[in-house]
Amino acid sequence: MSRTHVFAARPASDMMSVREVLDIVLSKVRCLDAEVVPLQEAGFRIAAEDVLAPAGFPPFPASIMDGYAVVAADGPGEYPVAGQVMAGHPADYVQQPGQVSYITTGAPMPEGADAVVRIEDTEPCGDRVRIKVAVTPGHDVREAGSDMAPGTLVVRAGSVLGPAELGLAATAGTGTVAVTRRPRVSVLSTGDELQPPGEPLGPGQIPDSNHVMLSAMVQRMGCDVRPRTAIAEDTELRLRQEVRASLEHSDLIITSGGISMGEADLLPKVLMDCGAEIHCERVLMKPGKPFTFSSWQAASSGRRCVVCSLPGNPASAMVTFLLFCVPALRHMLGHQPPTLPRIQVMLGSELVPDATRPEFHRFPWAGAHGAGIPSGCLGLGRWPARWPGRLPRGIHRFPAEQPPAQHAGRRRVGDGCARFPAVAGRFDGVRH
Ligand code: AMP
Ligand code: MG
Repeated sequence: MSRTHVFAARPASDMMSVREVLDIVLSKVRCLDAEVVPLQEAGFRIAAEDVLAPAGFPPFPASIMDGYAVVAADGPGEYPVAGQVMAGHPADYVQQPGQVSYITTGAPMPEGADAVVRIEDTEPCGDRVRIKVAVTPGHDVREAGSDMAPGTLVVRAGSVLGPAELGLAATAGTGTVAVTRRPRVSVLSTGDELQPPGEPLGPGQIPDSNHVMLSAMVQRMGCDVRPRTAIAEDTELRLRQEVRASLEHSDLIITSGGISMGEADLLPKVLMDCGAEIHCERVLMKPGKPFTFSSWQAASSGRRCVVCSLPGNPASAMVTFLLFCVPALRHMLGHQPPTLPRIQVMLGSELVPDATRPEFHRFPWAGAHGAGIPSGCLGLGRWPARWPGRLPRGIHRFPAEQPPAQHAGRRRVGDGCARFPAVAGRFDGVRH
């Protein structure tokens, strides 16, 4: 039976809402297992467990200044120098009252001294040193564990190990950290018309732009993208080969193309032939209506894989990637929460919302509007429908007007007059 018969124009009531589809996607995706890696390899990965400080910092009372370690009770005066204490070289003597020790920043306080007088408040005086100011015990001394007590929560499970978190974890005495395994992702382009980028084009052929676009976003999210083996032509045999191989090696497969109503849109059938269960295949949204989501489990090992099948149109592929694949991958990685934040943005261009399907538009930030509300005012209606958008940073969601009976007049949404919810986040899935 042809695809056209299977999916003969369905009414809107038959389509799932974006929210319903997202709930299904998240319910089928599991957080991946953890692996322990050296801190040096943990940059921008997701902590799988809370990181607690095994030790305090600093591990010993340390000088905050270059100067002289003193006994505070001695007060100002001229004193003999008992020795020098440099960072990394603790004193091998006990400092007596009436003595001072030269000390550098970060050096351990010599036993017997209880305060530091910075070098600017001292003066050499032959083989002695003049202490010019009175200080109280503890002055310019960083007590052991005062920056970070042992057991301090340094990084919460589910958060990104960014530069600050890595530095804190190292400071706390951590050498290795448990992170979520990188999702293995296959990106599969389908279509007889596609050629790898840069290849000469024959009649009717176009460059495959989705593969590099989607791979870059997936990589940026901290996933391993399986090297491309081929572009799958629109035959059941070729699609089956590529889907089978990808199922074996992936946690998530992202396909593009081949899921619409045309005679060459064979992917849903092929997915079913390969043992995948299709959970949704039409979404009430524009663009992105044909988005198809399926899951698969290996009979022998029980290993799971989910398949996000995006429409081939690059703009539709990008929108559905952000709405469904990004949360799926964030969920696999253990991000809390898996969905990107939603914010309000001011619309700066006119738009006639679709009567039935909520619309999703890509937009770059265009600075703040009024009381710090971001405004997304580029391109709406002007960009060619296929163009996925230059430097997109989020997508507006324009709800279809309700109830449908009111569509007769078709409201125009004008400059700066309305706020709309937007999914905030660059299209590489990184949160602001
Ligand atoms: P499809 O979803 O396969 O019907 O494709 C819809 C449109 O997107 C067609 O014009 C395709 O030529 C185009 N298209 C499909 N896949 C890609 C791709 N990987 N890169 C660029 N354009 C594509
Ligand atoms: Mg196609």
